[in-house]
Amino acid sequence: MGPDTGDHEDTEPTMDADFFIRWLDAAAAAVARDADRLTELDAAIGDADHGSNLNRGFTAVARRLAEQPPETPGAVLTGAGRTLISTVGGASGPLYGTLLRRAGRELGDAPRVSRTGLAEALRAGVGAVAELGGATGGDKTMLDALEPAVEGLTRSFGAAAAAADEGALATVPMRARRGRAGYLGDRSIGHQDPGAASSALIIGALADTAGRAPGNGAGRG
Ligand code: ADP
Ligand code: MG
Repeated sequence: MGPDTGDHEDTEPTMDADFFIRWLDAAAAAVARDADRLTELDAAIGDADHGSNLNRGFTAVARRLAEQPPETPGAVLTGAGRTLISTVGGASGPLYGTLLRRAGRELGDAPRVSRTGLAEALRAGVGAVAELGGATGGDKTMLDALEPAVEGLTRSFGAAAAAADEGALATVPMRARRGRAGYLGDRSIGHQDPGAASSALIIGALADTAGRAPGNGAGRG
């Protein structure tokens, strides 16, 4: 843990398992709401299934969390990752599943997690996604939203959401080098990457959840 800068929002472990469940519920709602948009983005440079893939996966995540709520933040994330891997057929299932499982493993069995602690766990998760998919920033994938989001999260929830949104939009002029879109070459230019767009939704849901819980020190700011 870094030096105490006096900004207690940085270091105090404020998020419990219930917070993480509400985050993933909010992510499921955002994915359901924007499923058609995600599928349209995937229709342009992929195979038009990203919205339905993620909607199926996150619906299953929310259902399982409601049926058997885990007791620690780490267990919420690892369980959700397992569910995504087993329910999402496309490339995004194993990738998001790896992100959450690896981040959950980093959190261990701590009952509460700080924002900066979550940022470090997600950093490990994003690294595992890069390793699994062989992509780096600039390849026009979910990493282009997730990597800046992790950096933003070291500062604030709001910075994470803004950086993810910006990162997703920045994929529009990029030429895809991974996934299905990679086969299109120059024809992928001019379209937003669907996985980067869904990553921005998931990080936005995190910031919204933090903002909706006044008094827990985890405000969106
Ligand atoms: P599929 O491509 O199998 O149809 P989806 O449509 O659900 O799967 O997800 C596509 C998204 O997955 C892409 O927009 C991209 O963000 C992400 N993606 C695909 N391949 C990779 C990879 N190798 N590394 C990182 N992200 C990837
Ligand atoms: Mg697809």
